[in-house]
Amino acid sequence: MPAKILDGAKIASDIRKEVAAEVASLAAAGMRPGLAVILVGHNPASEIYVRGKVKACQEVGIYSEQHTPAETATTDELLAMVEDLNRRDEIDGILVQLPLPPHVDSKKVLMAVDPAKDVDGFHPVNVGFLSTQRPGLVPCTPAGVIEILNRSDISIAGKEAVVVGRSDIVGKPVAMLMLNANATVTVCHSKTHDLPAVCRRADILVAAIGRAGMITGDFVKPGATVIDVGMNKVTDAAVFQRLFGGRLYKNAKREEIFRTKGSTLVGDVHPEVAEVAGALTPVPGGVGPLTIAMLMYNTVKAAKLRRGSGQWSAASGQ
Ligand code: NAP
Repeated sequence: MPAKILDGAKIASDIRKEVAAEVASLAAAGMRPGLAVILVGHNPASEIYVRGKVKACQEVGIYSEQHTPAETATTDELLAMVEDLNRRDEIDGILVQLPLPPHVDSKKVLMAVDPAKDVDGFHPVNVGFLSTQRPGLVPCTPAGVIEILNRSDISIAGKEAVVVGRSDIVGKPVAMLMLNANATVTVCHSKTHDLPAVCRRADILVAAIGRAGMITGDFVKPGATVIDVGMNKVTDAAVFQRLFGGRLYKNAKREEIFRTKGSTLVGDVHPEVAEVAGALTPVPGGVGPLTIAMLMYNTVKAAKLRRGSGQWSAASGQ
């Protein structure tokens, strides 16, 4: 039986509606959440991402502002901008869109963001809070993975979870969230021996690798849940053929997109996995839409933690 497709777009839309209701009640109490985005220079991909984030803010009622310093902005100028946003009470979230130009010390700029406003959840203080299970801001994509599981009634406690990928922004936080939810967690990477055998142990398999269709059917235990975080732009006809050439996986819509645009977005999981897994997130329309929804959620959470009744101090995590 083909896998149940987990509809990330629907789940993200539900979360955005919940966030909008929360924003409305906070705004009525005089505490409208606010997000500031810093976008340096003119990176076309970054401009598209930022547009999506600002539009999402408008839709859920979050105040947003964009700061667009020139490509030539120095580390010190960006630090001054971050400091100013740190000081402003009506700004709850600060997002520095990456990548920054090569002459800028990116780590220094990211470290300067007040952890209480770090809606990306990348600051070491928030990483520490996550690993010690204290209230803090959790990276958006990993938090989205957990939302998909929870809202699809896929229990995590006691399950074997295997995460392929150990990046600071996806693999490690997903693994920590799974551990906090009482899964037995294995984290794999490029040096893992016999990756298919390790993956086949998984009740829940998370692929966060960045390699189109690498996870094939022989990596998956029959009936397992497979979460595909990968977002890969395929432009090579041979790769397209490997993924969608088989009679079973022919996909007329994909073929049309590939023919007209010359590319298509695919995950790390091969389409044949749908014949083995019990449940599967598609790409596009799976984990992707959750990232912005969780950014909206984090901005509201940051407002409540910092400005709400139980004032949250990043230093104490209380
Ligand atoms: P990354 O920093 O490049 O990390 C990739 C990880 O995969 C590394 O840990 C690497 O191992 C591991 N890896 C690479 N090749 C491997 C192989 N052959 N076997 C086993 N492990 C292998 O990537 P990332 O930032 O975590 O992103 C991963 C994917 O998620 C990308 O496709 C990205 O576009 C996507 N993503 C999606 C969203 C979303 O909103 N849906 C958000 C963020 C990222 P080593 O550590 O040993 O090098």
